[in-house]
Amino acid sequence: MNSTSSGPDTRKPSHLFYQSRLRRPLVARAEGIYLWDQSGKRYIDGTSGPMCVNIGYGNPRVNEAIKRQLDQTSFAYRLHFENEAAEELARELTAQMPGDLDRAFFVSGGSEAVESCIKFARQYALATGQDQRRKVISRFPSYHGGTLGALAVTGYEPLTAPFAPMMESMPKIPAPTTYLDRDNLSPEQRGLKYADLLADAIEREGPESVLAFLMEPVGGASTGALVAPDSYYGRVAEICKQYGVLLIYDEVMSGAGRTGRYLAADHWGITPDIVALSKGLGAGYAPLGAMIARTPHVEAVLDAGGFMHGYTYAGNPLACAAGRAVLHELLDHNLMENATLRGEQIQAGLRRLAERFPFIGDVRGKGLLVAFELVSDRATMAVLPKELNAYQRCVDLAHEKGLIIYSRRTRGGIEGDHLLVCPPLIVTAAEVEE
Ligand code: PLP
Repeated sequence: MNSTSSGPDTRKPSHLFYQSRLRRPLVARAEGIYLWDQSGKRYIDGTSGPMCVNIGYGNPRVNEAIKRQLDQTSFAYRLHFENEAAEELARELTAQMPGDLDRAFFVSGGSEAVESCIKFARQYALATGQDQRRKVISRFPSYHGGTLGALAVTGYEPLTAPFAPMMESMPKIPAPTTYLDRDNLSPEQRGLKYADLLADAIEREGPESVLAFLMEPVGGASTGALVAPDSYYGRVAEICKQYGVLLIYDEVMSGAGRTGRYLAADHWGITPDIVALSKGLGAGYAPLGAMIARTPHVEAVLDAGGFMHGYTYAGNPLACAAGRAVLHELLDHNLMENATLRGEQIQAGLRRLAERFPFIGDVRGKGLLVAFELVSDRATMAVLPKELNAYQRCVDLAHEKGLIIYSRRTRGGIEGDHLLVCPPLIVTAAEVEE
């Protein structure tokens, strides 16, 4: 089947029950930034899958590391054995972290990482006699995962609404969608204005009841690579400290080098209390995620009996061996530096395109987490009519032409179209032009 065939067979067992019009060709092979389907058609992966294939496809070093680990052992249960792959990855990964973020807890994906952060925060509160702290404030729009706990802190109505009666939704504050603001504030003032919404929310909810604030430092799919003004980050950290609220950074998409630094937090010199990582950590070679926590917090939880949380595949040796080889590739080939350069090239290219095509609105992002808006009027950032189904048509057209892009029809909680341009961090200048 290819992308232009009449439609998917929605009754075959492997069909994932997604929207029925989704047509997916069978993949035949993949290498670098390219994938080929069974008809031999080549696709540029302009979004690294769902922003995870950070070092490209078919990396021989990672493949070798997985094979070596397989020959040793593919599995050893974490309650029965330590394993060298997880230990080494924890050591090398925490060396990339700022401050005393020195402890890693490995899981199998982003949602599990976010769940782990929330449960760890709660257990830290209990361990330190702060039993009333249970609310996790997050932002709207945001995406933190598909499991019910992660969904409760997700600010994206189309995904949360059906499950709202089954969970206690947590308080949300607006994410700094400053490109939509039409006030006379400077970027610095705008950043502080949005950050102060957190202090207001903490006061409103009752400071003694607030456990944590959870945010994506550079937004992902739900906001379209939203970057806040610089002043936002430090002020948010200050407010959290002032109220004893734990600051959790969801770096599932922005972490592992995608924005040009290992953590997006590093751009602003922030040391969050807890960090969620995934996607680029296993980079598509293995299902892998991590919660990174600060030593004093971990010790407090350990003293109170230990972290009561875990998954069968947590700290899986095969996944950790893959993750370790991915990290080596990232560091040895200066891929974070490349992400910065190629990201600048992509943003400059999109701005040049915007001069010719007035329907390209805001262009934004950091490193290779880049997005642009589709608008009917750039001055007002008015959205395109919903009936146009513009984002889906862009995705379909690009697919037909052999380019995979990612899009969402939402922005700042209102309807709107944005497209993400996030190729693997190995992308070359020539490939960006292509
Ligand atoms: N957090 C963020 C910021 C994400 O972008 C995602 C996935 O897109 C998740 C959490 C959930 O990760 P996963 O799909 O691996 O469970």
